[in-house]
Amino acid sequence: MAARKCPMCLQAVAAGHVVAYSDGMECPGCGRRLEVSLGSRYLASLAGIAAGVLAWRQSNPAQGEMGFAAAVLWAFLAYSAVAPLVLMVIADLRVKEEEAVAEPAAEHGHH
Ligand SMILES: [Zn+2]
Repeated sequence: MAARKCPMCLQAVAAGHVVAYSDGMECPGCGRRLEVSLGSRYLASLAGIAAGVLAWRQSNPAQGEMGFAAAVLWAFLAYSAVAPLVLMVIADLRVKEEEAVAEPAAEHGHH
């Protein structure tokens, strides 16, 4: 499945939109509720954590208290920069399952 495309009408969704509303956005093409699949969200956070660990190692936390604080800051910045970027690239959209809506009673008549 291509990244950032609605599975129903294949309309592409803007990258910023996917990252900002990964929990639920409306398809610009067909108006369905979409969400980023769990798998791609998981991968994006893994990549973010890897970037955080790398930044942590680069910034030498052993250099006293300030070095430690800086390392935490860099690791956090690396995570928050990389995770959304990766999500933009790999985001796989799926139709969000509607919260169970009670069927109108009239619908049962013609089965
Ligand atoms: Zn659509």
